[in-house]
Amino acid sequence: MAAGEGAMTAPLDLLGVPVHPVTLADAVDAVVRAVEDWSDGEPFRHVAVNANKLLACRADDQLARAVAEADLATADGVGALLMARRLGLRLPERVTGIDLFLELLGPAAARGWPIYLLGAAPGVADAAATALQARHPDLVIAGARDGYFPAGSEDAVAQAVADSGARLLFVALPTPRKELFVQRHAHGVAFAMGVGGAFDVLCGRIPRAPRAVQQVGMEWAWRWAREPRRLAGRYGLGGVAFLRALVLGREAA
Ligand code: UDP
Repeated sequence: MAAGEGAMTAPLDLLGVPVHPVTLADAVDAVVRAVEDWSDGEPFRHVAVNANKLLACRADDQLARAVAEADLATADGVGALLMARRLGLRLPERVTGIDLFLELLGPAAARGWPIYLLGAAPGVADAAATALQARHPDLVIAGARDGYFPAGSEDAVAQAVADSGARLLFVALPTPRKELFVQRHAHGVAFAMGVGGAFDVLCGRIPRAPRAVQQVGMEWAWRWAREPRRLAGRYGLGGVAFLRALVLGREAA
């Protein structure tokens, strides 16, 4: 069992996918406690759950297992909140991957926990590291590397992360690669999580939706408007399938 696991509130069941009913502050506390207590070589693992992932877990057993085996799963998108409400359950708020990532940097800097940034296009993780260092001058960055390594080299990449002395690992790969990397390959660090496109946001390559858009649960529409083709499957067809599941209160047969 990962450190701190026993202290977590029991997860809710959203279409068979576990999601913890926690606030961002609860999630930060849980991770900080787990990293402070860490001793056994296996990290405390976080996974962010959005509408797309709720449905993808039905079709992809490996992803479903990676999500189910995470120590902390939080509601990344408004879809998870809506589904919880539909099922008569309550999630206190969205706890997005990028917000948890950014909130952990202060404690990491204050406690001297080195971080590693893995993923995104060549140069992006380095640029994100520079941006983070400007925000947190005391933050120790153990390493940064891009996510365009060949399939099959995950263990070597993970070994380089462990050898760097990093305590916290942030993985900016697409779904399901980030969840599988965190579950299967992230050893020798105290904490690991996937952060999707967060490095692109940090280095200014992709703007994040304004706060007001995030607060009304429309960040997905902002992202879709910016990348209509690439995200058509996720938010178009995926959105229709999710709305159907929402109306039914379950996944369609
Ligand atoms: N990415 C990567 N290696 C790849 C493909 C993508 O590192 O082979 C990066 C991409 O540059 C981006 C991140 O993975 O920074 C997340 O991509 P996306 O936004 O598609 O992820 P998701 O929305 O699924 O979290």
